[in-house]
Amino acid sequence: MSKYLINRYKTLEVYVPGEQPKDMEYVKLNTNESPFPPSKGVLDRISSEEVSRLNLYPDPECKKLKQKLAELYNFNTENIFISNGSDEILSFSFMAFCSEEVGAVFPNISYGFYKVYGDLYDVDYKEMPLKKDFTIDINDYLNVGKTVVIANPNAPTGLSLSVDDIEKIVISNPENVVLIDEAYVDFGGNSCVELVRKYDNLLVVRTYSKSRSMAGARLGYAIGSKQLIEDLNRIKYSTNPYNINRLTLAAGEAAIDDNDYYMSCCNEIVKIREYSKKKLSDLGFEYLDSDTNFIFAKSSIIRGEEYYQKLKQNGVLVRHFSSPLISDYVRITIGTKEQMDMLFDITEKILQEVSL
Ligand code: PMP
Repeated sequence: MSKYLINRYKTLEVYVPGEQPKDMEYVKLNTNESPFPPSKGVLDRISSEEVSRLNLYPDPECKKLKQKLAELYNFNTENIFISNGSDEILSFSFMAFCSEEVGAVFPNISYGFYKVYGDLYDVDYKEMPLKKDFTIDINDYLNVGKTVVIANPNAPTGLSLSVDDIEKIVISNPENVVLIDEAYVDFGGNSCVELVRKYDNLLVVRTYSKSRSMAGARLGYAIGSKQLIEDLNRIKYSTNPYNINRLTLAAGEAAIDDNDYYMSCCNEIVKIREYSKKKLSDLGFEYLDSDTNFIFAKSSIIRGEEYYQKLKQNGVLVRHFSSPLISDYVRITIGTKEQMDMLFDITEKILQEVSL
């Protein structure tokens, strides 16, 4: 840290992304990426012709991509905001809709970035405890008079709230924004995008990183009322108007044309997830009933941290969180069937070793 850094940033607890060690080839089941490649249409669009135009700025309005997304969801382009990964929308939303006065609430076990943005933007936020079974208690979010941020399905638990429950939260906080982060919704969760037609305080945030196999391209979008999208644009045009690069824009457009491919990848991941749940049960693991492309699981034989370490020694990466509330668990991303079978074979070996 230099002596020049402004004091308020010196104590920031920054977000720690999932590790990407380069010392060997790992089976990477730690950052909820898709194991399937982008569609052929996307590969074709990132052509040398597109690359040759990199001397020109991209379209700051992302018009074509907005049009495609608007058609896909049957909204107007004025209801769509495009961002550099959905992290950027979260960042812009904390900037635009949360403050010391307005405050924010979100679950104490959820996507770690909410807290980081809360600290970064000096938000008076409150982390609401999950129930014992790791579900969200919606009573904690009714009439709170603060900005509400909920991942649905939640991460790393994988558990969903119903659309009815989300609607209750939205109705009971008419003076505040309710942000629903649907990063994982394409794997069987309950999307509340349709509620955006009825409520102008609801912002639904989506990403290309999970169900559209494009984590490396950095692309996210939000669907909300015209006014909320205008608010996000005020922040975008005050920070980085060209927030989406040309190649990512082209890839994002092509991916919508190939929507069927991505939906069939999601179906495949759901099948492998259900297979994996059964395998985990057979190995004596307990897990939460995930609606996502990951499973949050714990073994009665080996602690979370030790299991994570032993898997890593054997070339498999999963995510372990040190927070005492969830330190018994690991979060396992659903990979291909072959990757999951490797995980289960190695797990069997590890469990035998520790039982000796
Ligand atoms: N929300 C949730 C719940 C996530 O788990 C993630 C991925 N780490 C994100 C948002 C951000 O995803 P991205 O910036 O890649 O779109």
